[in-house]
Formats: sequence, structure tokens, C-alpha cells
Amino acid sequence: MIKNFGSRGSYEIIRRLEKADFEAVFVGGAVRDYFLDKPAKDIDIATSAEPYEVKAIFSNTVDVGVDHGTVLVIIEGEPIEVTTYRTDGVYTDHRRPDEVQFVKSLREDLLRRDFTMNALALRKDGEVIDLFGGISDMENKIIRAVGNPTDRFLEDALRMIRAIRFSSVLDFDIEINTLEAIQTSASEINHVSIERLKIEMDKLFMGINPAKAFNYLEVSGLGDAIPLFTGRLDVLNRALPFVSPLEGWAYISIMGDLQSAELARVYKLSNDESRFISSVHEAYQKRVSGVFTISEYYKFDLAVLVCTEKFYRSVYIDSPTLKNSELERNKHDLPIQSAQDLTINGKDLIKWAGIAGGRWTGVWIEKIEHAVLHSLCENDPIKIKDWFMHDFESKR
Ligand code: ATP
Ligand code: MG
Repeated sequence: MIKNFGSRGSYEIIRRLEKADFEAVFVGGAVRDYFLDKPAKDIDIATSAEPYEVKAIFSNTVDVGVDHGTVLVIIEGEPIEVTTYRTDGVYTDHRRPDEVQFVKSLREDLLRRDFTMNALALRKDGEVIDLFGGISDMENKIIRAVGNPTDRFLEDALRMIRAIRFSSVLDFDIEINTLEAIQTSASEINHVSIERLKIEMDKLFMGINPAKAFNYLEVSGLGDAIPLFTGRLDVLNRALPFVSPLEGWAYISIMGDLQSAELARVYKLSNDESRFISSVHEAYQKRVSGVFTISEYYKFDLAVLVCTEKFYRSVYIDSPTLKNSELERNKHDLPIQSAQDLTINGKDLIKWAGIAGGRWTGVWIEKIEHAVLHSLCENDPIKIKDWFMHDFESKR
């Protein structure tokens, strides 16, 4: 076993494929990250065996992408992707090959991969196969396309945004020819599905140097070709680092004067994501007109308050702002966090009023909620009853 690389099961897969006279190697992001001393991720194995041959060797497999050569092998309880060496056919849609061809040569398989650092293979005894200078590019912190970059980006436009995403995630520079090819092919990005784009942008936002990637998006023109990013890139640096991808999207929405519904529609955000962003919009409007009041502390989740204050801080750099711990304390110190925290409920009101329940109970619960929240009445059943009876009688 290679020190600090791979699980027992992954070596077992390679051993068994080799025993059946196939070739098998570790490939992809896990190999790259191993040489970069980054924490291990999912292991990918490439092999000369075809999917049906892989399935014949292992008892527990799942067909996850057999047409593209991928079989999931479950070994010692761990799922590992095993993919047949392949070349990609023609890319009519600039997105995925019309067909893939299984091949016996590892070299051909590595040739189809996007960047030199992603085209390394590692044998189980630790021998590295580095046909395109990936190790030296990684030492120089360079992202370089395998082969002719323009051809590679025309084949699959996703690679352009992958290059820029890696510049953020790894803090690497994009080699000049590769960058120029992004410049000339930028408009092809419209062939990439919005879901894939969103995944790449999420990773870009969470990288160690998003500012570098924003700059690449700007200078390459790719930013202009990505939906809703035009004219909104320059502001993004001000709120770095983002604590979550969602914060990045929220910042684009708010600073870019973009309706949250529009962003949610174009990027197919989940309901939770779009709710968060519209809450930040609402909270931000309040915040620019003054500090948060009790009502805002009550209405918005702490995450929304924290995010909003951060955005405010990034724009109103000379204004006093609150620390996260202060926001947290202010929220925590509210008499109640929700109507559920009230020590009374609708049934109590019905009993006290001596009349049948109806719409009025909800109305009065809200009034009590407001009174308790603003410390006009203590959250104590007796105090609430007094307050209620007094007001209820007087308004009858
Ligand atoms: P991550 O760390 O985000 O998983 P990764 O490089 O492992 O990055 P994957 O999508 O898991 O990305 O792909 C695994 C490998 O498949 C890559 O390292 C690369 O060799 C190859 N690959 C992935 N996408 C492409 C692509 N669009 N074009 C060419 N090769 C690709
Ligand atoms: Mg990966």
C-alpha cells in the first residue's frame, strides 16, 4: 500500500483485476490531491477491463454509468468507481461525447482527461504515470490543458469553468495558452447545463482563492458569458471569504441588484436556498436604514442576520457594525424565539374568554406574541392572562 493513499478495498480491487490479467490504476482527483498533500477524497480506479468483465470479477456491483464505462464496486462496504479505459467520441453538443469507446491503452485514457494535473495515474506499488508533465505543473502551481486547449474546450465547454474553479480551489495559475483558449471559446459555455455550472460555481466560491478565479472570469470574458454574472463580478471580492456557496449567491443577488427570484429561477436554486436569499434581501433593506430592531432579530434566523451584517459591513466600511457574537446574543436575549415559546396557547384564551374558538384566537395569539416580544407583558401565564383579560374586555 502507498502510505496515506487509498483504502484496503481499493487495493483489493486492483489486485483482483490484475490477477485476472487486466491493468488497473488509481486516477483522477484523488491522485492529484495526494501529490498536493490534500485530504483524500473519493478514489477512482481506471482499468483495461470492460464493464461486463469488472462485473464478473466482483460479486457486489452497481451499474452507475455502464455506457460510459463506470461500474460501482462495493468492497468491504465501500463503494468505489471503476471505469474502463476509454476515449471520448465526437462532442456534437460540446457537452458530452456522442459515444465513448473502450480502449486497452492507459495512455489513450489519460489523453482524454482535462488538465495535466488530472491526467496522472498511480499504480498500486506507487509508480506514477505522468505523461504530460502534471507533477511539474503542480509544483509550479499551473493548470494546463492536456493537448490543444482550444480543441479541448470546444469538445467540452465545462472544462473552461473547471479550469477557473481549480484556480480558486488550489490557488493555481492558468497557463497562458489555456487561458487564451478560454478567451476565444468563452461563448461556448452556453452549452453547459445550468446545474453543472452551479456546481462549479459553488466549488469556486468555497476555494482558497476565489478572488483569483473572479479575476480569471473577468479577463477571459467567461464571466460575461455566464448567466447573471455580467457586471457583477467586481463586487464579489468584498465579501470574501464566503462561509458557504449560498452566501456567494446571496451576495451576487444583493450587491448585483438582482431579484432573488430571478437568480433562483435561472440557477434552479432549492426552495431553502431561495428563501434564504430573499430573507437576506429583506433584512438588508432594513439594515441600511438602521440597526436591527427586536422585530428583525425575531423574524430572521441567526444565519440570515449574520450574513446580512457581513454584507452591510462590506459596503458601509466606515459604519459601526455588530460582531457575530453580538448578533447571536441579541437574538438569544429575546423574551421568546417563536410563538411556540409562549407559556399559553389558544385553548387558554378560549377558557379565559369563555367563548368558542375562532379566527379571533389566532389574532390574539399574535397580539400576545408581540406584547411578550416587546416586553410589554412577561411570558408568564398569570401575567399574560391579566394582560389579555384587560385588553380583551376593553375591546369587546
Ligand atoms: P474534484 O476534486 O472536484 O472531484 P476531480 O478532478 O476529481 O475534481 P471529477 O469530476 O471527480 O473531478 O473527475 C474525475 C477525473 O475525471 C478528473 O480528475 C479528470 O481526470 C476527469 N474529468 C472530469 N471531468 C472532465 C472533463 N470535463 N473533461 C475531461 N476530463 C474530465
Ligand atoms: Mg473527483
